[in-house]
Amino acid sequence: MNVEQTIEKLYVILIRRPLTVLRKEVNKLGKKHKCYICGQTFHAFYPYRTGSNSASSFLKELNMIGRGVDDFGCPYCNSSDRERHLFMFFDKLNLWQEFTQAHILHFAPERNLSPGIRRMKPTQYVMGDLYPSSDEISRIDVADIQFPDDSFDFVICNHVLEHVPDDRRAMREIFRVLRESGKAILQTPYSGILGKTFEDANINSDEMRIRFYGETTHIRVYGRDLFERLEKSGFRLNVVKNEGLYSRNECSYYGVNHEEDLILVSKSGDG
Ligand SMILES: [Zn+2]
Repeated sequence: MNVEQTIEKLYVILIRRPLTVLRKEVNKLGKKHKCYICGQTFHAFYPYRTGSNSASSFLKELNMIGRGVDDFGCPYCNSSDRERHLFMFFDKLNLWQEFTQAHILHFAPERNLSPGIRRMKPTQYVMGDLYPSSDEISRIDVADIQFPDDSFDFVICNHVLEHVPDDRRAMREIFRVLRESGKAILQTPYSGILGKTFEDANINSDEMRIRFYGETTHIRVYGRDLFERLEKSGFRLNVVKNEGLYSRNECSYYGVNHEEDLILVSKSGDG
């Protein structure tokens, strides 16, 4: 190790790390925000990566709904904005009760959400992911679901479709495995500006995907035609407006997007 490397290492150990710890502790003294899930208060949520400052000008102009990059993570329980928002919707709409004795398929299950669902004692609770992170999670491709037709009362697919190459097929698959009275929750970020979904095969590098889609693993930016796409897959839309449930101040306090509605769909339209 040369002199510069030694100085850099000492800088990290003696200054940067203690400052990071201090900043985190000071943040926890604040009361500006509260995590809806763990109930802790603090000054600021931590951002996704470096927050909106680093977003491309292209993305900034798209008014992305459902993609909270500034008020992202809870410094206590690490919940993301999309998890917190589902908790808030489930509470307000009494959806939790509908999970009791239900058959539920949950894609890319969120760490804080799954225990809440399990507490409601569903008859069947299948957690699936294309890349399972634990033994509890089955390998399931949302575009090729290995369950028979009419298997589930609920499918929860929160921020998944924007990663799926053939998303129309995924929508049809979710529709297929839902029971006649079944419902699905299909949150996905979309642009409030674009009428049509934007995707292009020439956007094929990590750098380009971050610039145009905001993530290396995103394949498109949905436009408002997302909802037509869902209807063409057979679903009835039962979208629940967030603004009728939570005020702008409440959304800011809990770190969720005031413009993001619950994309609730059903198979029969009775849901
Ligand atoms: Zn929390």
